[in-house]
Amino acid sequence: MGLGRSRSRSYHSLATKFSVFTAALIIWTSLLQIVLRWQDPHLSWSEQAVATAVLTAFAVLLARLTSRVFVRPLVLLERAIAGVAEGRREPIPVSRTGDEIERLGHSFNQMIAELAASEREVREYQTRLEEKIHERTAALREAIQRAHAAAQAKSDFLANMSHELRTPMNGILGMIELVLEGPLSAQQREDLVTARNSCLALLALINDVLDMSKIEAGKMTLEKAPFSPAAVALETVKAMEPTARQKGLGFEHHVSPDVPGLVLGDSLRFRQILFNLLGNAIKFTEKGSVRLAISCGAPSAPDRAVLEIEVSDTGVGIPRDKLEAIFEKFTQADGSVSRRYGGSGLGLAITKELVQMHGGRITVESQVGQGSTFRVSLEFERSDEHPHPPETPAVRGAPRQGPARILIVEDDPVTRVALCRLLARRGYETAAAETGKEALAALEAGAFDLILMDLQLPDGDGLELTKQLRRDPRWTQVPVIAVTAAAGRGQRELCLAAGLTDYVPKPVRTPELLETIRRYV
Ligand code: ADP
Repeated sequence: MGLGRSRSRSYHSLATKFSVFTAALIIWTSLLQIVLRWQDPHLSWSEQAVATAVLTAFAVLLARLTSRVFVRPLVLLERAIAGVAEGRREPIPVSRTGDEIERLGHSFNQMIAELAASEREVREYQTRLEEKIHERTAALREAIQRAHAAAQAKSDFLANMSHELRTPMNGILGMIELVLEGPLSAQQREDLVTARNSCLALLALINDVLDMSKIEAGKMTLEKAPFSPAAVALETVKAMEPTARQKGLGFEHHVSPDVPGLVLGDSLRFRQILFNLLGNAIKFTEKGSVRLAISCGAPSAPDRAVLEIEVSDTGVGIPRDKLEAIFEKFTQADGSVSRRYGGSGLGLAITKELVQMHGGRITVESQVGQGSTFRVSLEFERSDEHPHPPETPAVRGAPRQGPARILIVEDDPVTRVALCRLLARRGYETAAAETGKEALAALEAGAFDLILMDLQLPDGDGLELTKQLRRDPRWTQVPVIAVTAAAGRGQRELCLAAGLTDYVPKPVRTPELLETIRRYV
């Protein structure tokens, strides 16, 4: 619009200038005539008219010629510039006027040629770039696919290995427990307890390595089920108290009354955080005491609860310059101290990852020689539900005479034999099944008071088998206890949901197993 207006204004202005110039010329000749006639009165009117007409025609001709010579090349140039704006890249015909206008025309044509060339170059560059982007995208897609496949292979491998690694370890532990049950000399007992402790340390290490790989593969997810923080804390404290007592350490624990009865979250991971921190506190303390305190912090919303966990000890402490590094993988504050106490340097790294997955934070304060305090803050949703207490088989048939009969469904022969012998020694009558099919056949053949069920069977899943049993009126009431190395998330909740009565994790600790069995038989 602006261009159009300025174009027409400049065009008109030149034309107008020539018209005014022509008019001035005509007026000038007319005036000249009047003056001539006044000086020479002998000139006739007709002679004077002819002279005026000739002069006027000459003046008009001159004006037109000048307009042609100056204005036409300019108009051509102006049209060409307008053409450039519309995308045309053609040279204009240049009048050979031999002046600035001709030079302007040549410059314009040169500019057009350069513009066209650089545009061609840009187009070629763009095409090459697009091709390159295409190539790179394809390569990237391929690399991502390869990375996905590798990650998948890694997690499949880990999933398989977690079973392959834990099963023989559980077999060894089962057998050691079994031998420890029998008559032994004091020395033999001591040696076996050492062997058992080494096995437990190795199992803990395997679990740490597997957990870390799972976190790194992004496969670690958090379960969301109601659990009681106080109950989990108590369970963990109970499990760790004997070790603290053995070292002659005091062990206090306090859960403030405002900690909610139930929260929604992953009880297994909550337990793991407490376990790692308490384990370290006991490990790195020679005298004095260890303390666990859980209180409530300020939540971000009324339906949420913040748990402030504090684990303090009076142990060796951590040098100031190591306070950050200890949360990194495979890092220990003091090699010599850690060698004495053992450990992989993975515990705190896993703890930190678990805390971060909860959106929480972990901090530490320590004084060398005085002790350390780890503080963890975790936010959970509050739960209105009530925890499902382990189903006690209230109605069972008339109590049978004689020893209770237990069916052991377990595919690992070592664990199977260890469990059978352990229970037989306690006066239970046992039968064993290696697969789900064998378990069903054994149940058809005779009555059982309780079933110990491994969850990973060669021909299926222990959870599915239990669901199947629960659908049959003959077996709806039989207590089924899961015995499994699958230390996966929310395992207990999964088991209870499938109709299992209770859950005993592997490695099976004899007292825990016997207590659970006694609860139902
Ligand atoms: P690990 O205990 O297996 O070596 P962790 O990741 O649990 O690995 O801990 C890393 C290091 O942090 C330990 O080796 C130790 O040096 C230091 N550490 C952790 N907890 C404590 C503690 N309560 N007291 C003193 N040092 C500790």
